[in-house]
Amino acid sequence: MPPRRLIILGSTGSIGTQALDVVAHLNALHEQGVHPRRYEVVGLSAGSNAELLGRQAERFGVRDLGLAVVKGANPSHGEHYPSRATGSGTMRTGPDAAERLIREVECDIVLAAMVGAAGLPATLAAAELGRDIALANKETLVAAGSLVVPVAQRSGSRLLPVDSEHSAVWQAIQSLGPITPPCDAPRALERIILTASGGPFRNWTKEEIDRATPEEALNHPTWSMGRKITIDCASLMNKALEVIEAHHLFGLPADRIDVLIHPGSIVHAMAEFADGSVIAQMGAPDMRLPIQHALAFPHRLPGIAPRLDWREIGRLDFQEPDHARFPALALATRVIEAGGNAGAIFNAANEAAVEAFLSGRIPFGRIPALAAAALDELGAPPIAVLSDVLAADAEARRFVAQAVR
Ligand code: NDP
Repeated sequence: MPPRRLIILGSTGSIGTQALDVVAHLNALHEQGVHPRRYEVVGLSAGSNAELLGRQAERFGVRDLGLAVVKGANPSHGEHYPSRATGSGTMRTGPDAAERLIREVECDIVLAAMVGAAGLPATLAAAELGRDIALANKETLVAAGSLVVPVAQRSGSRLLPVDSEHSAVWQAIQSLGPITPPCDAPRALERIILTASGGPFRNWTKEEIDRATPEEALNHPTWSMGRKITIDCASLMNKALEVIEAHHLFGLPADRIDVLIHPGSIVHAMAEFADGSVIAQMGAPDMRLPIQHALAFPHRLPGIAPRLDWREIGRLDFQEPDHARFPALALATRVIEAGGNAGAIFNAANEAAVEAFLSGRIPFGRIPALAAAALDELGAPPIAVLSDVLAADAEARRFVAQAVR
């Protein structure tokens, strides 16, 4: 079998680095004759961490690279990149580096693991080209699901979920047949339940949450992740983004997507079927598991994530989320029902508010308040093309900047 050519966008981040470990593991399985495919990493892109990107390129012999921001230099396009391992390669630089990498380098599958709406143009390009997309970058679907999904459906691009909850739903609905997102909701699937750990503020009062510090918000109890998603988990904004992501991936309306707090992060999601039967997917809270599932699909292969010890776990607890303390969650329904640009506005307002919080300019409690205010203020005009989404994104960021000032 020819190797499966892979591009990783956001290779220097939490998901990107774990994905490269998974690739090394899958290639070791190939060497042992356990996996029929070998993976060839043909492109890597990052935000500004040129040093780690260079080391990754050498380790995996990658010639085609992208870097959004070149520190201390003006980004220049098509810069030549010398690499000891490969002789030489091409480093694309500038804000559109990842998109050019996708358009210029042939591949079979793209792992979209950039953070934020910055991942949208490159992910949309991959969908246009009909590439399989292992999707971690949930902000892309939140901001522009109604644009990306029809493009993917037309080109035959599959959106293979990497987010653990969506991977869990995808695995559970395999019981109905070989279904791969983006898909229309199977009729026999009554609803899905996404679980949330509850984050570090699960048992805090509203007043304590409102004035939490970045250090407290970055201290997640079960998952180790990038900074932005860790803050999103603390506010339950991450779960709101995931509800919207699930709506686009599985074609479900908001009233068929539920959320439960499950502090142990063992059950990642459940699918409840028409006959009342429920299939839950469980696993250690380790992202290498869903990453491997997306990259190796449809193969089930030996994994590198730790195994669950049921005697040690003992029990599984679930609670209803508290909307008064975590107002972000309810905004997901509002965004889905509003449609149009509401997702782009909501997502960008949250990204801008998270940045303002991390740099000490607003208290934690203002993050969901600013996302809600942006929705109130900016409405939900329809989206037809990428520039509509980018305009709404910019408008929401301007709105938050002004409100913060
Ligand atoms: P990180 O912050 O750890 O990594 C983000 C990656 O994106 C880095 O490689 C970063 O490069 C790159 N990047 C940032 N800005 C740009 C840009 N403008 N252009 C190109 N690349 C850019 O994030 P995570 O890995 O935690 O998360 C990535 C995505 O996966 C997010 O959408 C998140 O919601 C999702 N996700 C993450 C999970 C996790 O466990 N971490 C779980 C489920 C979903 P650089 O290092 O140079 O800044």
